[in-house]
Amino acid sequence: MERFFYFCNRNHLKNTINMVSYKELGLVNTRKMFAKAVDGGYAIPAFNFNNMEQMQAIIMAAVETKSPVILQVSKGARNYANQTLLRYMAQGAVEYAKELGCAHPEIVLHLDHGDSFELCKSCIDMGFSSVMIDGSALPYDENVALTRKVVDYAHQYDVTVEGELGVLAGVEDEVAAEESHYTKPEEVIDFVTKTGVDSLAISIGTSHGAYKFTPEQCTVDPATGRLVPPPLAFDVLEAIEQKLPGFPIVLHGSSSVPQDEVDTINKYGGSLKAAVGIPEEQLRKAAKSAVCKINIDSDSRLAMTAAIRKAFAEKPAEFDPRKYLGPARDNMKKLYEHKIINVLGSNDKLENA
Ligand SMILES: [Zn+2]
Repeated sequence: MERFFYFCNRNHLKNTINMVSYKELGLVNTRKMFAKAVDGGYAIPAFNFNNMEQMQAIIMAAVETKSPVILQVSKGARNYANQTLLRYMAQGAVEYAKELGCAHPEIVLHLDHGDSFELCKSCIDMGFSSVMIDGSALPYDENVALTRKVVDYAHQYDVTVEGELGVLAGVEDEVAAEESHYTKPEEVIDFVTKTGVDSLAISIGTSHGAYKFTPEQCTVDPATGRLVPPPLAFDVLEAIEQKLPGFPIVLHGSSSVPQDEVDTINKYGGSLKAAVGIPEEQLRKAAKSAVCKINIDSDSRLAMTAAIRKAFAEKPAEFDPRKYLGPARDNMKKLYEHKIINVLGSNDKLENA
């Protein structure tokens, strides 16, 4: 019996010693950031990253616009880039922001679409300051129970948690759903109260990926011939806001799929047919409401791919990766700055720049 306790205690000690607190890495959680964003009528950018150039572009854009920022890592990105590397990259991001002249950067390291308690715990133990537990595909009661379990663990370490109600259509890494189901406003109070989540991702017609809608779901703009997607369900958003006044709401799948990037990709040998996103005016409108975090991933992928395809086509003899990843980084930075200033409105919102 004594031996048994000895081993248990040793394991406990080992876990404690191996834990990395995000606070030691200079990161922040989302609590204060979201409260300010809801009050101020803007949204915090949540940009996914998988590699160094993306991270550099995100941090450069955030520093130059004096914006708080959420660095988002999906399960797929964690498998692709390695969890240890990502953690040190996030720590590096804080130091890099300071080196670029931002004395007090506000950077969150967030797990996007955590699908199990174990994955969320592992991220919290490795220095993430925020996690999402996505139980939206589960029956309601199971979603509540799983989310509650993650919140109980995360809050011990002052890590914030995003939950999700409603299902988004589309494909994002390993998250895929054929059909969307709008969030039911009548469920949100019960869900937030029972789980204790810090923010709630909802479904109001946004969708993952670069093909958010089929051509049949869209109308055609007679002036440009481009597809125009169906509008977001702002009535559902308003009903949710009335149930949960001031509570932080999150929008996933909110890339706008810039047509100039799609055109560049197609011009230089790509084949993106009928890619369509959420119009930026609609995201701007959402950002002014209780929506305080807007997730953007596909747009950055498009900006990167467009710049690389162009560089390859224009300089076929070039084989120095810096000569095509550099322009890709520049193009992503331009995109991030545009989103921050013209769509989210999070520029100049650092507490102490
Ligand atoms: Zn998502």
